[in-house]
Amino acid sequence: MIGGVGRPVAGRTQPASVADMADRFYLNSPLAPGEVVLSGPEAHHLATVLRARPGDAVCLFNGDGAEYPAVVTAVVKKRVVVRVEGRLTPDREVGHRLEVAAPLPKGDRGDFLIEKLTELGATHYVPLRTRRSVVHPREAKLERLERAVIEASKQCGRNVLLRIEPPADWEEYGRRPTLPARRWLAHFGGGAWAGQATGDVALAVGPEGGFTDEEVERARAAGWGIVCLGPRVLRVETAALALAMLAQ
Ligand code: SAH
Repeated sequence: MIGGVGRPVAGRTQPASVADMADRFYLNSPLAPGEVVLSGPEAHHLATVLRARPGDAVCLFNGDGAEYPAVVTAVVKKRVVVRVEGRLTPDREVGHRLEVAAPLPKGDRGDFLIEKLTELGATHYVPLRTRRSVVHPREAKLERLERAVIEASKQCGRNVLLRIEPPADWEEYGRRPTLPARRWLAHFGGGAWAGQATGDVALAVGPEGGFTDEEVERARAAGWGIVCLGPRVLRVETAALALAMLAQ
């Protein structure tokens, strides 16, 4: 139950959907049945914000693809002790690589992009540098984005974390030999979406100034399909989210 700590639910072993689930907490460590101590921001959220009490049901995840139903056993200052009681593997992933490369929009719009890509099931995000891009995220910003991935995953029920990749130059990225065979680049002048919704895919969006003609032509030569998303100019984050939805 999102929005309050789950009081014990009699007879429920497997949540039917994420909406039925206890509040979720992230731990950056292996999880197995038994006691585990939460500290830091997750303990603060549980103890101070949600006022957890012994006996409350929670759900832990660490990005390994599973989630771990657990029960609070003690709340001591800034630490919460919980007992992991099981391991569930609900299927909430898109089932293929869904990689999105786009320049990081400025400020809160960058966090928004990452939050929504996480909700839509993207598996990788590549901060892109192009000829006309202006924001080049530093290490601290990338760490903040990783926190945004965790927060969104807590809320939406993902047990696999969207990976924030190192920033890449379009020149190099667009021709990377490890890219999936399905590649779509959003650009005015492209065709209508004609892709399939299954199989590994890479998606590219340009900066607010757009890709240069040369960048688009090189992409075409490197096997990218060029897709138009309609007659209006979309923000980077809107274009990225629309593409991510089309490609699954
Ligand atoms: N003036 C720029 C607009 C850039 S919008 C131009 O003409 O390209 C930022 C990015 O979002 C673009 O580079 C493109 O990748 C994507 N985008 C925005 N609106 C789009 C649309 N209607 N169709 C396809 N891509 C779009």
